[in-house]
Amino acid sequence: MTLPLVIGNWKMNSLVSPACDMARSLAHKLVAVEGVEVVIAPPFTSLYPVGQIIKDSKLSLAGQNCYFENSGAFTGEISLEMLQDVGCGFILIGHSERRSVFGENDALINKKVHQTLKAGLTAVLCVGENLAQRKADETFKVLEMQLSQGLAGLPGLSQIVIAYEPVWAIGTGVNATPQQAVEVHAFIRHYIFEKLGFSEKIRIIYGGSVNPENSKNLLQEKEINGALVGGASLKLESFCAIINSALEP
Ligand code: PEP
Repeated sequence: MTLPLVIGNWKMNSLVSPACDMARSLAHKLVAVEGVEVVIAPPFTSLYPVGQIIKDSKLSLAGQNCYFENSGAFTGEISLEMLQDVGCGFILIGHSERRSVFGENDALINKKVHQTLKAGLTAVLCVGENLAQRKADETFKVLEMQLSQGLAGLPGLSQIVIAYEPVWAIGTGVNATPQQAVEVHAFIRHYIFEKLGFSEKIRIIYGGSVNPENSKNLLQEKEINGALVGGASLKLESFCAIINSALEP
């Protein structure tokens, strides 16, 4: 059975003290929980203290972004060594906000994925179409491009998670239906296996307005191996409810 993965992406929210409180409470809530892997991605300023708090817990830590160089004159960037140093085991790469707000393209994203794997961390590659692309029936074409370019040059056994995050569902309150998500997940799985030579067992998680009301229906689908949660991961109750719905009934 594939272990479901639930990642909380806190984005640019939370100061150090509330971030630490949240991590502490979450770690406590998860003490007796088995059968789900839970990861949190706080802002950079909270990574070190949160990493210290959760280091002996069931929680893992993720960076929301990284740069592909190890060190040097790259003002404002953060290296994988730095992220690893504070306890990150996962790195989100190519989130749609990085693509649309900060202009990241597939070539840059591919370099970040390579460097993440080289550092021995798990890359969470985010892909997804926007509304215009979905309406124009271009979803699969967009995904083929993002996947073939984002994963270019990588061996099939790479430590990768794919997060399918339709841009129209992120932060909008409009989630993909389980049917829509399953259709795309099945496409991604088939594509990366048949065309790119990756394992069929790679976890493909869904992100986009996941909340306690819709998480059960999404996460009970076999094709959906977990969730990338934004807004609803900022509150203990809603995030825990989503984690619970990833558990076997
Ligand atoms: C995200 O940040 O990746 C995300 C899916 O956000 P939200 O859950 O708020 O839509």
